[in-house]
Amino acid sequence: MEPRDLSSHTVYQAGRGIEEVARDLGLDPDDLVKLASNENPFGPSPAAVEAIREAAGSANSYPKASHADLTEKLADRWSVAPEQVWLANGGDGVLDYLARAMLEPGEAVLVPDPGFAYYGMSARYHHGEVQEYQISKADDFALAAETVLDDYEGRESGDSRPRRTSGKSDGGERIVYLTSPHNPTGKRFDLDAVAEIADRTGEETLVVVDEAYGEFADGPSAVELVGERDDVAVLRTFSKVYGLAGVRLGYGIVPEAWADAYTRVSTPFAASEIACRAGLAALDDDDHARKTVETAEWAREYLYENLDAPTWESHGNFVLAEVGDASEVADELQRRGVIVRDCTSFGLPECVRITCGTEAETKRAVAELNEVLAS
Ligand SMILES: *Cc1c(COP(=O)(O)O)cnc(C)c1O
Repeated sequence: MEPRDLSSHTVYQAGRGIEEVARDLGLDPDDLVKLASNENPFGPSPAAVEAIREAAGSANSYPKASHADLTEKLADRWSVAPEQVWLANGGDGVLDYLARAMLEPGEAVLVPDPGFAYYGMSARYHHGEVQEYQISKADDFALAAETVLDDYEGRESGDSRPRRTSGKSDGGERIVYLTSPHNPTGKRFDLDAVAEIADRTGEETLVVVDEAYGEFADGPSAVELVGERDDVAVLRTFSKVYGLAGVRLGYGIVPEAWADAYTRVSTPFAASEIACRAGLAALDDDDHARKTVETAEWAREYLYENLDAPTWESHGNFVLAEVGDASEVADELQRRGVIVRDCTSFGLPECVRITCGTEAETKRAVAELNEVLAS
């Protein structure tokens, strides 16, 4: 037998792991600086580590109380009803639940190019079609309402406004994904632009605002819009600022009008006991989160000022830099023990993405990269 036709499906290309690279190079993992996956350079929140240790002893039980407590705590934090908080196995899990809740087979979604690969992957798993909108390097990757609307299908020719018919098939894509701050460019959408996109797309089009890096940005969260309207949902994750990428914990904030769909699309106990306990503790660990954000702000400035390559202003915990042949530069840098993300797979073969490290890691990365660029 065979699985269904998966030929249009793509494979997620993660940044390479530190053990993997160390083994290949015959180096000690401790001598490597890994700035390739936008992970937290300070490790997990220490409070979360403690909570994980404690939770280990109750790993035999399904996560009933912890799941409800975390949902409630997040609802409080964002001033929404608990039903509006969709816990999931990472932000990626949230994307799956939204696709499950929204897509009929054959309906299309609109994803950014360059952009996060999982939007399209998730839509395809759910029998959806994938269209792209272009974020243009020539335009310094600017993110405006038109960036998206220019490539949105649901508009009549010659009319700048989309068709607005009621019912499902209003011609437009069913889900539009906005990444803000955007990976890998670091740019973000203003809330006005998000609202304009939601206004000018069809009534049955959901705008998903992926705020995986929201804590690093200076603007307000699009959660503000979720209270006012039924066509914007926001994704958040514990993987970045809280340093919990390994436990897989994220959540969506969705409009109250259809929030109950969660019970029909989610895996039973969508987040594990360990993940929920870690998340509860991390939310109270302001020191760790503050240190992480402040260091990222410092590192961004350090990269703009000291890297001998053009960079783009970033609102995330990473900076995109134009280095020439990114694959060659990333390989050479890796031989010197510094791992960055070659952006060829994002369609930017001349760029690398450098995660904000600790002060020492960031300085070492800049020094090594400058040497590679000079040679
Ligand atoms: C990291 C990331 C996510 C979420 O990752 P999870 O580890 O699954 O929570 C979502 N979107 C973007 C753009 C990301 O970079």
